[in-house]
Amino acid sequence: MSGETGLAPAIAPTDTGCADAPVLRERGQRAVFCGLTGIVWLHRKMQDAFFLVVGSRTCAHLLQSAAGVMIFAEPRFATAIIEERDLAGMADCHDELDRIVAQLLARRPEIRTLFLVGSCPSEVIKLDLGKAAQRLDRTLGTDRGAGVGTRVLHYSGSGIETTFTEGEDACLAALVPHMPAASAGAAPALLVVGTLPDVVEDQFRRLFGELGIGNVGWLPARQLADLPAVGAHTRFLLAQPFLGETVGALQNRGARHLPALFPFGAEGTTEWLRAAADAFGVCPMQFNRVVAPGRERAKRAIAHSQDRLRGKRITFLPDSQLEVPLARFLSTELGMVPVEVGTPYLHRELMARELPLLPSATRISEGQHLDRQLDRVRADRPDLTVCGLGLANPLEAEGLSTKWAIELVFSPIHGFDQAGDLADLFARPLRRRDVLRV
Ligand code: SF4
Repeated sequence: MSGETGLAPAIAPTDTGCADAPVLRERGQRAVFCGLTGIVWLHRKMQDAFFLVVGSRTCAHLLQSAAGVMIFAEPRFATAIIEERDLAGMADCHDELDRIVAQLLARRPEIRTLFLVGSCPSEVIKLDLGKAAQRLDRTLGTDRGAGVGTRVLHYSGSGIETTFTEGEDACLAALVPHMPAASAGAAPALLVVGTLPDVVEDQFRRLFGELGIGNVGWLPARQLADLPAVGAHTRFLLAQPFLGETVGALQNRGARHLPALFPFGAEGTTEWLRAAADAFGVCPMQFNRVVAPGRERAKRAIAHSQDRLRGKRITFLPDSQLEVPLARFLSTELGMVPVEVGTPYLHRELMARELPLLPSATRISEGQHLDRQLDRVRADRPDLTVCGLGLANPLEAEGLSTKWAIELVFSPIHGFDQAGDLADLFARPLRRRDVLRV
């Protein structure tokens, strides 16, 4: 399985860009959401799963306000509140948890996978949710082979030293050991890793089908009862850049990562599809025929934002871990000038294709020291700053235009048909600023 597909890359680096650039490493106060936030998009994707956060009232409030209150649908997440007597060691938390899980499953027997999600409070009192999940899985999952029963897994969404997209990474990594083993000699299969909105998943599924790559699995699957098989036959593409732990878990099961740009913009999406096409021996003519229409459509859609964004300076504060690929998209396809690209963690291996495409003058920073970071933003005065919700208003009050980083995680932004919307998400705050100035 090898080959070189046509459609020459339009964004070859002229030098090594930021591949070897020095990284400003910061440690200190941070302003990011915790990993529980991921439940907002994960529960929409995995339709037979339920997320039970074992946490405090603060955790429950965060989830409710991040997800909005669902009036018509019974939600597929909840919080088991750790009360003061639990904290004081006056109650057996494991007994309490078993009771709550039993109540939940009596009311919602359709739940096929139950995630026990750890939080800061559950970690502080050292509640072993791994052990609890194993115990509950033994009693509740006995008939799973017959299509009934509930699988019980656990992961941590704690906010201690983490950022909010790590919740998805931890959740997917917890699923990997439960993917069926592929049989020896199984035909090569593609696995797409990272949560995508259903509409985007369907677009990619169609494109892979037209390329002749029919054996495609998705992690997470819409129904966790249908987790794809994994093994030495698996080649996987990352749809999201924040999945380092999941990558390690898949590699431990023999799967091979296909290095690629992330599928943002016309060129990023082309290169992402090309990585799969090369691995599956798709001929160049076939690749051109399938990919060129979408690529052209994306370029036309992006062009609507070019006049407003070209030459504008942009800073990313460390938040979603999408910062590097999005800065690459804005720089190579819209002519924006990245001033500082901050990211909570810099996974050099996963960013190996992205970093050389960033202009070499870009300041790359990892981690956060909030005060020093804000001092740099004030000194740089970029045209647009991508940051967390809590920082946006103060920066706007200082006359700086901002974009909420979390909006980029909640919006469909991958692939050809979303490329125009992605560009517009950055153009909108600048448009608003210009209107307010008139
Ligand atoms: S997990 Fe920690 S950071 Fe997140 S809401 Fe609960 S207490 Fe707050």
